[in-house]
Amino acid sequence: MVDDPFENMLAQMDRAEEYADVDHGVFERLKHPERTLKVTLPVELESGEVEVFEGYRCQFDSARGPFKGGVRFHPSVTQREVEALAGWMTWKTALVDLPYGGAKGGVICEPKDLTERDLERLTRRYTEGIRRMIGPEVDVPAPDMNTNPQTMAWMMDTYSMYEGYSVPQVVTGKPLEIGGTPGRVEATGRGVSLVTERLFEYLDRDLSDATVAVQGFGNVGSNAARLLDEAGANVVATSDVSGAAYDPDGLDVAALGAHVDAGGLIEEYVAGEIRGGASAADSRWDDPDAITNAELLTLDVDVLIPAAVEGVITADNVDDLRASAIVEAANGPTTVAADEVLTERDVQVVPDILANAGGVIVSYLEWVQNAQEFSWPLETVNAELERRIGTAFDETIEQYDAKGLPDLRTAAYTLALERTATAHEYRGLFP
Ligand code: GLU
Repeated sequence: MVDDPFENMLAQMDRAEEYADVDHGVFERLKHPERTLKVTLPVELESGEVEVFEGYRCQFDSARGPFKGGVRFHPSVTQREVEALAGWMTWKTALVDLPYGGAKGGVICEPKDLTERDLERLTRRYTEGIRRMIGPEVDVPAPDMNTNPQTMAWMMDTYSMYEGYSVPQVVTGKPLEIGGTPGRVEATGRGVSLVTERLFEYLDRDLSDATVAVQGFGNVGSNAARLLDEAGANVVATSDVSGAAYDPDGLDVAALGAHVDAGGLIEEYVAGEIRGGASAADSRWDDPDAITNAELLTLDVDVLIPAAVEGVITADNVDDLRASAIVEAANGPTTVAADEVLTERDVQVVPDILANAGGVIVSYLEWVQNAQEFSWPLETVNAELERRIGTAFDETIEQYDAKGLPDLRTAAYTLALERTATAHEYRGLFP
């Protein structure tokens, strides 16, 4: 079993190598990040105590354009994880054909234990730490796990203060009022819903009333659940760190959304302690059952959507999985050992670098609007997102069918690796 996400990413690359038209020397080059900066971040907390945090920014590959990728705040962040995530960003931007390379940042912290003021100080100190390596044409951060438009506003402000003028284009995922784009917050979830619809069309199956289990009800999972519900699918289970809610007849996704938006946990919702006002409580349908996150993964559903952390579908639980399709909303949720079993069993897996690319696609659209100093309406953003993720889906399917590849991940990696390698070949080796 591969526990290390970086080893897992390398193993995913290795699975694709035999099918990819990539020179072996270039392929070896693609296994190493360009650079990773580690920063020490002393922060005086609101409590008066000084706590020393550790953060990273990995710039994996820039052959196709400026580095791009989110920043996560999480206790389990490690350098290897950030490097794996930066690699996945490289393959993701190449697969959806954005003029970017891949990067990722992370700070080891438990955001739940920090006040808003603490988070602001930590974000500003981290931005100062990585300030020399980011920039609108160099490396453009964005939100990821536990970071949001407010985090991006602090990053943008800190960077701009040093420059002496406003530089909105240095980050994406900003609030609308300071250069954000409509549609960015729900973009990743919207992309997940769009590729699930495309998958069902490809498989000639009807999405209406197909059962869906979504592991994780954060920004990505909740928006994916809401949009799939609106598309006619039947969302039967979802979860957060406190546990999972399951109702074979379908969950009231809107009521759950209102409860979680009001700061509620899934565990409380299942127990009937519902936040989010009367509307959430009134419209709650039947009482859902409390199940564990592990049980959610093995439900007999049409689609399983892991939308939480990496490494949740492994050799240990893959034999118990009963979903007939998996759409990876999280980055790196499936280990290579589990992948091999799923391929063998013909379970279609839409890989993360395709399924969750909606976020970075709309980040790109935000960056372009900032460069043009011009703003687009939501309809234009959503239409462009649909066009771009739809094209990447079709190209992945074409590659899978035409080359008779073992699975969709191998097809997606083959395309991404070939595109990145071609950029390296044109540019050549310096000096
Ligand atoms: N953090 C998101 C991802 O993993 C978005 C990155 C971005 O928008 O740059 O794809």
